[in-house]
Amino acid sequence: MGEFCKNHPQREARVQCQKMAIGYCQDCLDNCEACTEPCGYCKFRGGCIIYELCKRSDKAKKLKAECG
Ligand SMILES: [Zn+2]
Repeated sequence: MGEFCKNHPQREARVQCQKMAIGYCQDCLDNCEACTEPCGYCKFRGGCIIYELCKRSDKAKKLKAECG
């Protein structure tokens, strides 16, 4: 579980979503493709490396805008 990237099954996972137990590669992390639920509630968010890195990106602002 979570050993390979959800979006790139041939790549090794670098990070794992603690909520969904899904792995993602470095690319997905860099491109902010790794957070499964940027809008909804996530109890792991406070200590989530995915969310921490993603929220500094431009895409995070866009996602947030789309959340309403
Ligand atoms: Zn990936």
